[in-house]
Amino acid sequence: MLDAVNVSTAARGGPVVVAGAGYGGLHVALRLTARLRNKPAVELTLVDRHDYHQVITELPRVAGGTRAAGAVRIPLQGMLAERVRFVQAEINGFDLAGRRLLTGAGPVGWGRLVLALGSRPNDFAIPGLAERALSVYSASDAERVWAAVSKALDDATAAAAGPGRQRRLATVVVGGGGATGVELAGELAEVLPEVARSRGLAPDWPAVWLVEAGPTLLAGSSPQLIAKATRILADLGVQVRTHAVVAAATADGFRLTDGKLVEGGVFVWAGGVKAPDLVMGSGLPTGHNGRVKVDQYLRVLDHPDIYAAGDLASVTDPRTGHVLPPLAQVALEEGETVARNLDAELNGRPLEAFTFHDKGFVVSVGTRRGVADIAGITTGGRLAHLLKDAIEWEYRQSVTHLRGWDPVAR
Ligand SMILES: Cc1cc2nc3c(=O)[nH]c(=O)nc-3n(C[C@H](O)[C@H](O)[C@H](O)COP(=O)(O)OP(=O)(O)OC[C@H]3O[C@@H](n4cnc5c(N)ncnc54)[C@H](O)[C@@H]3O)c2cc1C
Repeated sequence: MLDAVNVSTAARGGPVVVAGAGYGGLHVALRLTARLRNKPAVELTLVDRHDYHQVITELPRVAGGTRAAGAVRIPLQGMLAERVRFVQAEINGFDLAGRRLLTGAGPVGWGRLVLALGSRPNDFAIPGLAERALSVYSASDAERVWAAVSKALDDATAAAAGPGRQRRLATVVVGGGGATGVELAGELAEVLPEVARSRGLAPDWPAVWLVEAGPTLLAGSSPQLIAKATRILADLGVQVRTHAVVAAATADGFRLTDGKLVEGGVFVWAGGVKAPDLVMGSGLPTGHNGRVKVDQYLRVLDHPDIYAAGDLASVTDPRTGHVLPPLAQVALEEGETVARNLDAELNGRPLEAFTFHDKGFVVSVGTRRGVADIAGITTGGRLAHLLKDAIEWEYRQSVTHLRGWDPVAR
């Protein structure tokens, strides 16, 4: 949909700076590279703390020890054309009036800024959670989960205090039954029996608990999808507890609001996300969970020189009235619109309102099975897992080989 807006601000020059090389930011950088082919004077800068892009959707496999962390880190150097100036630096703040990012490598001035800094785990200020629970938000996080699980099984093997303690040490408790929690619990439940066997432990000693505050796993999904995912998890031996609100994390487990303790040796929190603290204290307009409020063109409210995309952006779907969920699929589509709108500004064309085209929902449950809702059809089993593999393969191809090649770039 094309809407006419006042594009007088578009004429302002200065570099286009993209903050964050995740799903949203990398997509903007790659698309703009193609679209700015005939505009050598426009500077395009990408800033990230890492010199690699992380395929976050594959992190549950790293956390389950079935994929190396290095395999989900794709070096940016291989993807970015010379046209893009890459600055590897930590972004520490914003000088909104001076239009500068404040980074560890010095200030980076913008004419237009794209904010795509993703999100952080939200511990909802639950006592003990930040100190005792791991998370899975980066390749390093996922590596830490696998290291902790491996160590817990080693400790369980070495423990001489009897099977009760050994079983507790070998138990992983995952908090949060959304897609991340389900994928992680499924992956671990599938691999842990074999790992236990290899250490001389009984294969049924490692247990995986999945603790969810709401009435169902995968809240917001179709009842059919939830039922299929729940069945596969049960088949894998995952102990699911719904209506289980975590009140505190202790050294022995997650203490629930009903007083019960879900004991384990390793604790992982996948109970939700929030915007990075950096954004929350920036003076930018923020909404629920600190996500940045944007207009229909994905420009930050009252800041027409700043766009936001991905988990960081609070984008309401006009058809449902709900804020879009933090998903890679959403980040990529928002990145597409931001790239088009930056290009439109540079060419004096009207901006395009963002519309989300839902391609469906796919979740892996274990290393061989999954569930999917696509075009109103729900599938569960091997096919859904293959679909997830295919989506990830296609994504890797799109960023590494096609490098954001854009058939409609003008
Ligand atoms: C385990 C897991 C599995 C998931 N699986 C799926 C899935 O199957 N399908 C799906 O659609 N979604 C999935 N998601 C959600 C998806 O990964 C996110 O929605 C997506 O990554 C958001 O993209 P983004 O560009 O907003 O942020 P990100 O991809 O997180 O990128 C943010 C970038 O900003 C950089 N950055 C952040 N802060 C700073 C700073 N201060 N200084 C410098 N650089 C900084 C980071 O290094 C990173 O490169 C999953 C998420 C998790 C955690």
